[in-house]
Amino acid sequence: MDLGIRGKKALVCASSKGLGLGCAEALAEAGVDLVMNARGAEALTAAAGGIRARWQVAVTAVAADITTPDGRAAVLSAAGPVDILVTNAGGPPPGTWSDWSRDDFLRAIDANMLTPIALMQATMPHMIAQGWGRVVNITSAAVRSPIAALGLSNTARSGLTGFVAGTSRQVAPHGVIINNLLPGIHATDRAVSLDTAVTRAKGITMAQAIAERAATIPARRYGDPAEFGAMCAFLCSRHAGFIVGQNILMDGGASNQNP
Ligand code: NAP
Repeated sequence: MDLGIRGKKALVCASSKGLGLGCAEALAEAGVDLVMNARGAEALTAAAGGIRARWQVAVTAVAADITTPDGRAAVLSAAGPVDILVTNAGGPPPGTWSDWSRDDFLRAIDANMLTPIALMQATMPHMIAQGWGRVVNITSAAVRSPIAALGLSNTARSGLTGFVAGTSRQVAPHGVIINNLLPGIHATDRAVSLDTAVTRAKGITMAQAIAERAATIPARRYGDPAEFGAMCAFLCSRHAGFIVGQNILMDGGASNQNP
């Protein structure tokens, strides 16, 4: 299928690894020029170089913390006007309701709610002016089915989901389409760190921890960042203009299972 976005320009945040990289790779395969971002320059340069070589698209790499005003300013100024925005950043740490201070909540809200909102506010005026744009926010399956230990993430991402619910309907008349993509467990560094914690807590091997978790998922496996990226690219395509303000769950069926 031709996604119809060859030659457009996308800003893909937090994209040197994992789900962000999956999205960058799939957009590049569709012929989209990229602005990629992450904090660590080494992995970012390597990821950008690989994509440039594989897909012959233009790739600008900006090493910066996207959750800070200075980091966002650096990324947005290097990017200039973009047609497509994919928001992403690392998730907040796990814990218990009584652990979290006001500062912990403010950090999570800044990173996983106010940062994507600021990026949409910065990039959508150009999309509206040209009558075409696409935004995909990487959120979490926890928005649909809250994960108890991820209270900071549940809180911040629910706020973003609320913002998108209204805003997506306000900008759709101008050809700007916003949707959220909700990952369940995917095989990325984030999954490795979650599974490493399980190996320590239970005294089991990594293979056992992965097998135990996969057994709880109807698809009996972890998601692949490449299939996540393919869905992201579809939501950025010309075929997605009638999909507005949706929360699209990619979790192998893990949420809402009846016993
Ligand atoms: P990952 O494999 O750890 O990759 C995170 C990427 O984001 C890296 O490229 C990292 O590079 C970059 N990054 C992190 N914080 C950043 C920041 N402040 N500014 C710029 N770049 C930043 O993570 P992932 O699994 O792809 O997860 C992506 C998002 O999806 C996270 O918010 C995560 O909580 C959420 N999620 C993931 C899963 C899953 O199973 N993987 C499930 C549900 C939700 P640097 O470290 O160099 O900055």
